[in-house]
Amino acid sequence: MGKAADNRVLVINSGSSSIKYQLLDPESSVVAASGIVERIGEDDSAIEHRAEGSSTERRAAIADHTAGLRLVFETFAATGHDLEQEGVRAVGHRVVHGGEVFYRPTLIDDDVVAAIADLAALAPLHNPANLAGIESARALLPGVPQVAVFDTAFFHGLPAAAKTYAIDAKVAAAHGIRKYGFHGTSHEYVSGRVAELLGRDPAELNQIVFHLGNGASASAIRGGRPVDTSMGLTPLEGLVMGTRPGDLDPGIVAHLARSAHLDIDQIDTLLNRDSGIKGLSGVNDFRELRRLIDSGDEAARLAYEVYVHRLRRYLGAYLVDLGGVDAITFTAGVGENSPQVRADALAGLSRFGIEVDPAANTAHDRAARRISPPDAPVAVLVVPTNEELAIARAARRVVDRLD
Ligand code: ADP
Repeated sequence: MGKAADNRVLVINSGSSSIKYQLLDPESSVVAASGIVERIGEDDSAIEHRAEGSSTERRAAIADHTAGLRLVFETFAATGHDLEQEGVRAVGHRVVHGGEVFYRPTLIDDDVVAAIADLAALAPLHNPANLAGIESARALLPGVPQVAVFDTAFFHGLPAAAKTYAIDAKVAAAHGIRKYGFHGTSHEYVSGRVAELLGRDPAELNQIVFHLGNGASASAIRGGRPVDTSMGLTPLEGLVMGTRPGDLDPGIVAHLARSAHLDIDQIDTLLNRDSGIKGLSGVNDFRELRRLIDSGDEAARLAYEVYVHRLRRYLGAYLVDLGGVDAITFTAGVGENSPQVRADALAGLSRFGIEVDPAANTAHDRAARRISPPDAPVAVLVVPTNEELAIARAARRVVDRLD
C-alpha cells in the first residue's frame, strides 16, 4: 500500500440517479480523479471520469448504485488506480439530512446506517439515495472506514428563536419540525476561507454567505457559528432557486389542494421541480436565463427580478440579525459566475458600507478574491466552494482519531 494512496479519501455524493465522486488528498487538496455516473437505473446510463487532465466516457446499462460504483472502480483500475488493491484512507459520504441525531462527521456502522434510514421521512428525495451510495461503498471496500458528513450539521446549534417554527409545539415536537438548514458543509468551508483570506480570527467576524447554485441558501454567521440560515425543515425554504420557490405563503399548499385538486405528491413535485426560476421563465440555468433576458423575454426578466428581490430581503434580515457585517461572500455556480447577480444584490447600499468595485467584480478570475474597494468597510468576496475537500478533510479527521 503506497503512502500517497494511504492519504487519499474517496468522496461520494450519491443522488437518486447519479453518483458524483472525487479521489483527493485532503492535506494537499490535490485531486487524483473525479467523475459522475448518471442516469442510474435507465438504459442509457453513463460514466464520465476525469484523471490527469483527460476525460473518459463510457455508456453502459447501470441497474443500481452498487453497479454504478463497481463501474467507477473498474474505470479507476483501467486508468491506473486500482482502489481495491491500493486502498484509500477513508470514504467520505455526503448525507443531506442528519436530523437532530447527527451534528458532526460520523463513522458509519450498522446503527448509523439505520439512523440515516430513519431520517428518510425528513428527506425522502435525498437520504435514501445517499444511503444507496453508503451501502454500495461498504460492500465494495469492506475494510475501509466510511464517514458520513451531514449537510445539516453546521446548523445544528442554531439559536432557538431562529430554528423554531411558530406552529403547535406538540405537533412540531412529534414530527421533528424545526429549521435544520442545508449546504452546511459549504457555508462552513466558505466562511472559514473568508477568515483566512482576510487574515482575521473567525471569532471576530460577522459574515453573510450566499451559496447560489441550483439550490440556493444564505447564512448569517457570528464568530464562526451560524445564527440563521434560509433553508428550513427541507431545502425548499428561503431564496428563490433554479426549480424551487423558496419562501411561500403556506396557505398556497392548501389552496392548490382545494382549488387545483393537486394531491400532496403533485404539490411536492410542483414545488421541488417546476417552480423557482424555471417555473417563472421556463429555464433553470442562469446562462439561459441571461440569453432570454437579452432577447427581450419579459417572463425571464421578472424571474430575475424576483430572484434578486429575495436575495436582498435576506441580506437586510441578516444585517439586522448580526447588528452589522464584516464580510459578504458569494459562492457556488451562480454566486461564483454571475457578476450581475452580485452587483444587483448589493446595489445602492453604500450607506451601509457595502460596495462592489465594478472592475474587480467583472474580472475573469476563478480564484477566491475580494470584489469590494480596498477601503470599503464591508469586505465583499467571491470564494469558490469546495464541498468535496471539506468532506475529505472531515472524513480524515474522524479516521485520524481512530488511530
Ligand atoms: P448545484 O446546486 O447543482 O451544485 P452549482 O453550484 O454547480 O449547482 O450551480 C449550478 C448553476 O450555476 C447552474 O444551473 C447555472 O445556473 C449557474 N452557472 C454555472 N455557470 C454559470 C455562469 N458561467 N454564469 C452564470 N451562471 C452559471
